[in-house]
Amino acid sequence: MMSKRCYYEVLGIPKDANSESIKRAYRKLAMRFHPDRNPDDPAAEDRFKEASEAYGVLSDPERRTTYDRFGHDGVNGHGFNGFSAGGFDDIFAHFGDILGDLFGHGGHPGASCRRGANLHAELEISFEEAFGGTKKDVTFERVDLCGGCEGTGARPGSKPQRCGSCQGSGRIARQQGFFLVQTTCPVCQGAGAIIKDRCPDCKGEGTHRVQRTLSIKVPAGVDDGTRLRASGEGDVAGPGLPRGDLAICVRVAPHPVFQREGADVFLHKEIPFSLAALGGELTVDTLHGAQSIDVPPGTRSGTVVRLRNRGMPRVNELGYGDELVTLDVVVPGELTGEQATLLARLRETGL
Ligand SMILES: [Zn+2]
Ligand SMILES: [Zn+2]
Repeated sequence: MMSKRCYYEVLGIPKDANSESIKRAYRKLAMRFHPDRNPDDPAAEDRFKEASEAYGVLSDPERRTTYDRFGHDGVNGHGFNGFSAGGFDDIFAHFGDILGDLFGHGGHPGASCRRGANLHAELEISFEEAFGGTKKDVTFERVDLCGGCEGTGARPGSKPQRCGSCQGSGRIARQQGFFLVQTTCPVCQGAGAIIKDRCPDCKGEGTHRVQRTLSIKVPAGVDDGTRLRASGEGDVAGPGLPRGDLAICVRVAPHPVFQREGADVFLHKEIPFSLAALGGELTVDTLHGAQSIDVPPGTRSGTVVRLRNRGMPRVNELGYGDELVTLDVVVPGELTGEQATLLARLRETGL
């Protein structure tokens, strides 16, 4: 038998590591070397076992203290004390809490809970609709249970037969050394049942693709690229199994005048140079209606005026963003005779 590595070394943690870092270190190794991810790789399997054993001891304060004092002899005189007999299932029973979300089957191979696939749809709305919020229909295709057989795949009136090869579990367990390795049953392809007389509507599939239209509430202030989630609107995997979700990516059309960044909107406004020089009142457009602003005398081109709370609504928050107006001072191109005369007089004054 190979000489045992120190448990702290196995998990790559210092001797005074706290329980959180022990857990984190084990998670990392378990993800990397898990047999589900490394099929037919005995080296990975060994590393997984080794890490699981180390975690089993170091995560238990009492066993950890014993291990710190007496080493390997203290905690397992005869191999794996904690989970020697049951193999895989036992490991999951011990560590289901941390392995649970790593693998789709809820940590425990027996507790299979297949969800339907998540779907994706796009929704195009106008800038104004994004401003005010809106309700829109989204049409998409998804997998539904066949109405004829209610998802069993068997001709109405008949029933699928339980698969004799896997006793209806859909999985075949095979002892491989320390582990009970589970694979999909090749006879029923994991369904656990065999259909002798197929449903004519779905040809035994139990499901079919249908078009569905969903009314979606789009919140005010939504930005281009925002994802909305419709829970349980995705595909169905089979009778009694939960549906996936539908993710809706919102596409907001650009505004002809306003640019947008988050809840703030930006506007360029041309002003005559006389207004810039003398100052005065100016009317600018906002998403909330036209508004009058004061242009101070001597305003330079490129000056930015901030109009508080005149931008887009903040999603899931109170209030609005701002509008930032950049004043572009225009030098006149074509002049009337009178304007040219006046400008010539201005020049004489030194302007
Ligand atoms: Zn059917
Ligand atoms: Zn089977």
